[in-house]
Amino acid sequence: MTLFLSSQVQAEWFKADRAIMGTAIHVELWHNDKAVADRLIQKVFDEMQRIDKLMSPYKKDSELSLINNLAAKQPLKISSELFDLIQKSINVSTLSNGAFDITFSSVGQFYDYRKRIKPTKAQVEKNLKKINYKSIKLNSSNNTIYFTQQGTRIDLGGIAKGHAVDNAIQLLQENGITQAMVSAGGDTRIIGDKGGRPWYVGIRHPRKKGKSAVILPLSQSAISTSGDYERYFIKDNVRHHHIIKPSTGDSARELRSVSILGADSTTVDALSTTVFILGLNKGMKLISELPNTEAIIIDNNGRMHYSTGLATTK
Ligand code: ADP
Ligand code: MG
Repeated sequence: MTLFLSSQVQAEWFKADRAIMGTAIHVELWHNDKAVADRLIQKVFDEMQRIDKLMSPYKKDSELSLINNLAAKQPLKISSELFDLIQKSINVSTLSNGAFDITFSSVGQFYDYRKRIKPTKAQVEKNLKKINYKSIKLNSSNNTIYFTQQGTRIDLGGIAKGHAVDNAIQLLQENGITQAMVSAGGDTRIIGDKGGRPWYVGIRHPRKKGKSAVILPLSQSAISTSGDYERYFIKDNVRHHHIIKPSTGDSARELRSVSILGADSTTVDALSTTVFILGLNKGMKLISELPNTEAIIIDNNGRMHYSTGLATTK
C-alpha cells in the first residue's frame, strides 16, 4: 500500500511541442521517470519525422513522390505502410462515393495557398478527369500500385496526420504508457484520461482566431477537425481553401468546420475531410451509419450541428 502510494505521487505529466509535417505536434504523457518520458516523447517526434519523409508531396525523394512520378508507367512495388494507407483511403472513397479521393491532387497540386494561386480554368479542364480513385490499382499479392491514367497524382494530406498520431499512440502503448494525449494540428488522440478526469479539447472557432467554438470533455478517443481557416486565401470575396471537391476541383464551401469523434485517428482524420466535402445532410447521414462515430459540424452560417449520439447525451 505504501509502495503503491509513493510510486503514484512521483508520477507526473510530461509534455512537449514540435513543428513537424507543416503542423504543430503536441505530446503529453503520464510517467514516473523523467528520463524515460523524455525518451518516449523524442521517439514520437522521430516517428512523425519518419512519416513526413515517407509521405510528403513536397519532398522530391519521398516514397509518395516516387509513386507520383512512376506509378502511371508500370506497377510499382511500395512499402506496406503506404500500401495499407492508400488502401484505407480508397475504402473511404468507396464509403463516401468519391467525396474523399486522394487523387484530388491531380488538380489540387496547382494550388499554392501562400502565394494565393489557384488552378487556371485550363488546368482544371485538363486535369479534372484525372481525379478518380478508381484509376488506382493496388495489387496485394506483390504490394504494387499502378495508375491506369497518365497524370494521376495522389496526396495523403487528408489522412497522413491521423496515421502519424495512431502510430505515436501505438508506440507509447508498447512502452507501457496508459495515459497520454498526442495531437498533430487538428488531429488528437487520447488514451486513458487525465488522472481520473477527462481532457478538455477545444474545437477552434472558424472565424475568431484564438477562440474555441466548443470545448469537449474527452477520454480514450480520437477527434479530428477539418476547417476552411487553416490553409486558404480570399480572392474576389471567394475563400479558396485546401479541402477540394473531387467533382469540381474547387474548394468545398457548404461548411466551415467538421469535427469527427471516433476510436482511431486515421479513420476520423479521413472522415473529417470527407464530411466537409459531403456537406451537412449527406455528411450527417454517413456518420449516423458508422458505429461509435460522432460529428460536430459548423455550417457556413456559423450554426453548430451535432450528430444524434452527441445530441442525446447533451
Ligand atoms: P488538416 O489537418 O491539414 O487541416 P484535413 O484533415 O482538414 O487536414 O484535410 C485537408 C487535406 O486533405 C488537404 O490539405 C489535402 O491534402 C487533402 N484533401 C483535400 N481535398 C481532399 C479530398 N477531396 N480527398 C482527400 N483528401 C483531400
Ligand atoms: Mg482529414
